[in-house]
Amino acid sequence: MGLGWARQQNASRQVGHYDENMLPEMLPIYYTRLFPQNIFCRWLTCGSSPQPLSNRELSFTLADDVYLRYLSFSDQKELQTLLQKKCPHKLDIGAVYNTKPSVGRHDAVVLSRELVFDIDLTDYDEVRTCCQEAKVCAKCWTFMVIACEIIDKTLKEDFGFQSILWVFSGRRGIHCWVSDYEARTLDSPGRGAVADYLCLIMGGDNQNKKVHLGGDNLHTSIRRALSIIDKYFDKLLEEQEFFSTSDRLEKMLKMIPDETLRSQVQKALEGMPDSSSERWKKFISIYENYCREAGNSRKIRYLAEEIKIQYCYPRLDVNVTKGFNHLLKSPFSIHPKTGKVSVVFKPSNAKNMKLDEIPSIYSLLDDSAPDNALHETNMKAAVKNFQEVVFSLEKAEAIRRKQDGNMSLDF
Ligand SMILES: [Zn+2]
Repeated sequence: MGLGWARQQNASRQVGHYDENMLPEMLPIYYTRLFPQNIFCRWLTCGSSPQPLSNRELSFTLADDVYLRYLSFSDQKELQTLLQKKCPHKLDIGAVYNTKPSVGRHDAVVLSRELVFDIDLTDYDEVRTCCQEAKVCAKCWTFMVIACEIIDKTLKEDFGFQSILWVFSGRRGIHCWVSDYEARTLDSPGRGAVADYLCLIMGGDNQNKKVHLGGDNLHTSIRRALSIIDKYFDKLLEEQEFFSTSDRLEKMLKMIPDETLRSQVQKALEGMPDSSSERWKKFISIYENYCREAGNSRKIRYLAEEIKIQYCYPRLDVNVTKGFNHLLKSPFSIHPKTGKVSVVFKPSNAKNMKLDEIPSIYSLLDDSAPDNALHETNMKAAVKNFQEVVFSLEKAEAIRRKQDGNMSLDF
């Protein structure tokens, strides 16, 4: 994209180093030329139906963290005007109200809202060893790949949902939006039940063992999750070295409830090289022998599975899922700190995504940037992913409206 001003700015700074101060100039161009306004409006229109698009709350974060809530728009033209006028550094999407949210304000009643999931790498700080807090790297991403695959399969196979949108959060996590009518109109207890269904890791910092699968046969959804974890477990052991230092090993030993077994494992693992893969193999062989010999192994029947789940299973921010009107960052919003676009991705492609290949507003608008061509290609692919989900949602909505029409004729 040939932008003279971008090149002029470039001359005065090193290529690849950008800062937030450039956003006020770049965002109006981004919103006009690259933000997929049309498909965005169609997605929200379907997701708001049978209410009009204008009953949907949008919120903007402006420069200097000024926060505007209860905004709304009724068509693409109004959206474009709003984006140009306010130039939001961040866009969030809220619920669908019984009236225009700006008119109703505090009296407005929430009628529907996509079922949403927020998975953030900071919630993995007790298990990831490569990074902590806001830092993320390619190794951390494997946790997101597993979370995406498990949640996507659960939503489709156990709940029958179809219209599922996966979005990179812009920095250190992923979001999932379920737009099926049944999901959008779920009440708070219903949302809570879905969130709880996907919650296997329980307990705070003081709890050593946070997963308890019991001694009966495992539920299909747990077996499915374990088969997904198994695809990535060796890779994670190598990348994260969960058991390689004495501190990390101690954490793992504390998850073994049986004292005799624990001391056997401790003795063996402390006396061997610190490779986590080797230590895990050794643990499995001691554990399996112990179960064969010990008469009653019911209490530790799924110990290996419980440990795998504690290290790898999705860690949701359940409050985001449970809340009816929790605002969540919009697809294709820019992350003000990283400049990255919240791209839509296919869950089947999550494992191929690379953080530095996710388009940033700086690379997209600066044709002299080294990543410009790659980021443009990836931006186009992300818009196409978005379109695919929206087209299928439009079809599903058309069928639903037709069925609703037939139902009312019957009465
Ligand atoms: Zn990392």
